[in-house]
Amino acid sequence: MQIIKNRSALTPAISQLKSNGKTIGFVPTMGALHEGHISLIVRAKADCDVVVCSIFVNPTQFTDAKDLEKYPRPVEEDIKMLQDAGCDILYLPDEKDIYPYGKTITNKFDFGALENMLEGASRPGHFAGVAQVVKILLEIVQPNILFLGQKDYQQYIILKKLVETQRLNIEVKKCPIIREENGLAMSSRNSRLSSELRFKAGIIYATLNYAASLIKILPFAEIETSCFDAMNALDDFEVDYFEILNAENLSEIKIDTKEIVIVTSVIAGGVRLLDNVVV
Ligand code: AMP
Repeated sequence: MQIIKNRSALTPAISQLKSNGKTIGFVPTMGALHEGHISLIVRAKADCDVVVCSIFVNPTQFTDAKDLEKYPRPVEEDIKMLQDAGCDILYLPDEKDIYPYGKTITNKFDFGALENMLEGASRPGHFAGVAQVVKILLEIVQPNILFLGQKDYQQYIILKKLVETQRLNIEVKKCPIIREENGLAMSSRNSRLSSELRFKAGIIYATLNYAASLIKILPFAEIETSCFDAMNALDDFEVDYFEILNAENLSEIKIDTKEIVIVTSVIAGGVRLLDNVVV
């Protein structure tokens, strides 16, 4: 695996590969890799000739300075995992390479209500930061296919919209959520949970499945409230939201909605955990 730290080296290398007819799959990450990230690399490997992964802990998407500071950065382990998974190129930039002119968000995209709901409601500016960094990364990497995890469902919808509205000519593929044994969605933040809470957090996926089983039986508002309250009543659990929405664009469900997503965010012992199921 090639490790490239500068965009001035990466972009021409990719242009060369593309002019030789190679397709490029791209997996952007913030590192502290786990099997969820690796599943994206494996999928990209299957679908593309060359797989590029980036590791960059993007400061502009953190609304809490402590969260940014505490974000795990085990780069050596990450490199080993990517090598083992057969990743071809790791783009490992520093802040200057991504933000040569400073990191204020100047290029603000308009995602409408999408960016202020759910995660955006508790973390104002979060998705502006995500969109900013991903737009920069896509300009640098110029992939044919962008691989994103279903785990960050709202992020997936927003980035799909970014690619569409900016006419980037990139295919966006959504990859399934990889889970721990108890059903907890894998996340770089899980290492910050106590072992007791990590075990207990399996209840999040169980509750999502329970809600999914009630979709055809009870009114949505009733399911949302009872699932929210049940998890919120647990010690050390604080539910931020539990909502049943249109899976295509996170709008309210109407008679013609084809697919439903149930999304939740739970703060367990101070650690924000996201999960969802598509029904
Ligand atoms: P992150 O490093 O958290 O920014 O995540 C990088 C990518 O990996 C995003 O597209 C995430 O949605 C995806 N991802 C994170 N956790 C998982 C998981 N448990 N299963 C599948 N994909 C994941």
